[in-house]
Amino acid sequence: MDFDLSEEQQLLKDSVERFVREEYPLEKRQKLTVSEDGFSRRNWATMAELGWLGATLPEEYGGIGGGPVEAMVLMEGIGRGLIVEPYFSTVILGGNLVLRAGDAARRHDILPKLAAGETMLAFAYVERQARYDLFDVETTAVRDGEGYVLTGAKGVVCHAASADWIVVSARTAGASRDRDGITLFLVPNNTPGLTRRDYPTVDGLRASELAFDRVRVGADAILGEVDNGLVLIEGVAEQAIAALAAEAVGCMDVLLASTNEYLKTRQQFGQPIGKFQVIQHRMADMFIACEESRSMSYVATMRLSDPDPELRAKTASAAKVQIGKSARFVGQQSVQLHGGMGMTDELNIGHYFKRLTMIDTMFGDQNHHLKQYAAFR
Ligand SMILES: Cc1cc2nc3c(=O)[nH]c(=O)nc-3n(C[C@H](O)[C@H](O)[C@H](O)COP(=O)(O)OP(=O)(O)OC[C@H]3O[C@@H](n4cnc5c(N)ncnc54)[C@H](O)[C@@H]3O)c2cc1C
Repeated sequence: MDFDLSEEQQLLKDSVERFVREEYPLEKRQKLTVSEDGFSRRNWATMAELGWLGATLPEEYGGIGGGPVEAMVLMEGIGRGLIVEPYFSTVILGGNLVLRAGDAARRHDILPKLAAGETMLAFAYVERQARYDLFDVETTAVRDGEGYVLTGAKGVVCHAASADWIVVSARTAGASRDRDGITLFLVPNNTPGLTRRDYPTVDGLRASELAFDRVRVGADAILGEVDNGLVLIEGVAEQAIAALAAEAVGCMDVLLASTNEYLKTRQQFGQPIGKFQVIQHRMADMFIACEESRSMSYVATMRLSDPDPELRAKTASAAKVQIGKSARFVGQQSVQLHGGMGMTDELNIGHYFKRLTMIDTMFGDQNHHLKQYAAFR
């Protein structure tokens, strides 16, 4: 199998790595995390100019016609830089949902603006009682004349505060845990009846709890087919998992490199601690954990275009389990090998570990996906 990147993909990779090197030292990132938006609009405009936001969109929408590999390259760089701009929410989640399910008018309205950095999106799919089951939806959308009325609540909606549009899953038929009867709606963020409670997350990003109190939307808010939204949610969840796997690999690469560097410089008993064999064994185990994740990130990315839905779902679950295991191991070892310094805010170690911990919980943690995987056998 050919793992080489094309010339364009290599250029994209170079552009993210350069951006991270020049624009994303930890102190700058820390300032962004406490700013009003939680990220930089100027960085967002730069990302649009560099072609990142349209990298996975067809050319007719102002994109450059890439696909899963471009998303992987970008997300790995985003992980490496611990980038806080809402690429994942806007492009991987919202953009892919509009691309998959929007009608021609919606796509032509939203996607070119997304590629140009003028529109941001968020995806509200998590409900408190659902744990990680994507089909467990209690928010309702009741038909009212031509349109619908949405009532309910969504949790941990990443980057909802900065989104212009929020894609919301709601039940148009059936009971709360039915697979059928879910519909997606594209709701403008300022719609009356929609209230947000915004907060920073442990990894320095932003999220919101959303409440829908009889939120009225037109029939044109429907994204995809009525009652058949789960297939869209599951499809985008697979894309999200592949993207998060790549981001995690980027994070782990930095933890490995930083820890390796520390072990070469920290002196104890007259020599660098990395000279002790017991420490070298730990580094070897960390290296293997990173490589196992990298392999699963590649598989998850490549399987996205496989026509077999069961194989796609199974691969996504396998990737999520491996990423979760590796992330915890690499994170914990990095903290311990750095000694007390690994716990401090001044060092990058804890910040990467926090992001990896959040990645484990997004779209299902290790336990959830282990069960999902076992159910396929
Ligand atoms: C929240 C917090 C609370 C703390 N509370 C206390 C406290 O109450 N009392 C107290 O005394 N200390 C306390 N500490 C300090 C803590 O004990 C030290 O951080 C810890 O001993 C590690 O030392 P270090 O940071 O200098 O790491 P380093 O000495 O740099 O060690 C880094 C890593 O190398 C390993 N290592 C070091 N030397 C060798 C060697 N010769 N052979 C093999 N491996 C080696 C260590 O196991 C570690 O994994 C606290 C630290 C934290 C973060």
